[in-house]
Amino acid sequence: MEVPIALLPGDGVGPEVVNAAVQVLNTIAAKYNHVFTYKEALFGIAAINATGSPFPEETRDVCGEAVAVLMGAVGGPAGSTPPGSPRPEQGLLALRKEFGCFANLRPVKTWDALLDQIPVKPEIVRGTDILFVRELTGGIYFGVRHEVEGEIDLSGREEAYDTMEYAPYEVARIAEVAFKAALQRDKRVTSVDKANVLASSRLWRRVVDIVAKDYPDVTLDHQLVDSFAMRIITQPTAWDVVVTGNMFGDILSDEASVLAGSLGMLPSASLNESGYGIYEPVHGSAPDIAGQGIANPIATILSAAMLLRHTLGLDEEAVAIEKAVTAALDNKARTADIAQGGPYISTAEMTAAIIDAL
Ligand code: NAD
Repeated sequence: MEVPIALLPGDGVGPEVVNAAVQVLNTIAAKYNHVFTYKEALFGIAAINATGSPFPEETRDVCGEAVAVLMGAVGGPAGSTPPGSPRPEQGLLALRKEFGCFANLRPVKTWDALLDQIPVKPEIVRGTDILFVRELTGGIYFGVRHEVEGEIDLSGREEAYDTMEYAPYEVARIAEVAFKAALQRDKRVTSVDKANVLASSRLWRRVVDIVAKDYPDVTLDHQLVDSFAMRIITQPTAWDVVVTGNMFGDILSDEASVLAGSLGMLPSASLNESGYGIYEPVHGSAPDIAGQGIANPIATILSAAMLLRHTLGLDEEAVAIEKAVTAALDNKARTADIAQGGPYISTAEMTAAIIDAL
């Protein structure tokens, strides 16, 4: 059976890293007898330049006909889009919203081969393996807002505000994702909130407690976001699955990304209720190194592994890719971002090293 995958390479290093991930998917297809078909569409600045929109109708159609999207990144250096034109990031939000992708999964892992790359002591960080499950389509980023327009009067009373709102169904469905993921891992869920201050967090906590009753094999604990921000660095190996709201997840997962050694190592998935997913590296378009063939393709290759696991249920194939990445790192394959100033290989050579290990 053919598996249609939409490719949105986007801007900057996006096309370079997506091309690498497709090569790895093709190796998997040949080895395990799958047929992946790809349709590429315009996204980001490339789409704005060609059509005026960062997420044109045609791209929407290509994504709608696929089972999943493999994305590069969008955006460019400041000033790369004409004043008044839409921002490429608007396309990203529109894409997630179009397909209801409410569950953002961001695994953060420390590779032994990269321990000397990480600014936390090896004895503290060794063995870190956390799955962040972030709510992506609700909370304060989507709440009611009021802006203060024009000149600001410093003695004035007009308020700017954003409201943090969560409905029980929004919390319940993201909690379900977290508990199900924990069953496949170390069977522990940590829910992070600010329940000592925020009403929306108290609702969050109560709903998570209710959902937990359906998962008696999973241990649940609650953490307050402020102290958790410290613990994620001082005790990074203490966590398995971390579930949290949109803004807390945004901040904490970026903080935790230092535990992986480089942005170039971090994959992500954004899923909807039927398993449709947008898979992309956590990093942006890296305009400073775009076109040089030196970007680290691992984040996108690991995102492709997540596609196999979460949308297609091909766990064995996903594990094969993850093991191949570990093997390449153990064999000292290093792109510039993880070479600590030492000798490094190109995007193509890193991709070849991973394919060799496969
Ligand atoms: P960035 O992630 O693009 O780059 C930050 C630093 O990390 C740069 O020095 C870059 O060279 C390095 N880096 C990133 N990915 C790398 C890789 N695969 N291999 C080696 N090094 C890598 O963040 P930025 O510079 O703040 O943003 C650049 C553009 O990307 C902006 O327009 C921003 O809006 C956009 N952006 C897009 C996304 C997305 O598409 N999801 C996410 C973040 C930023």
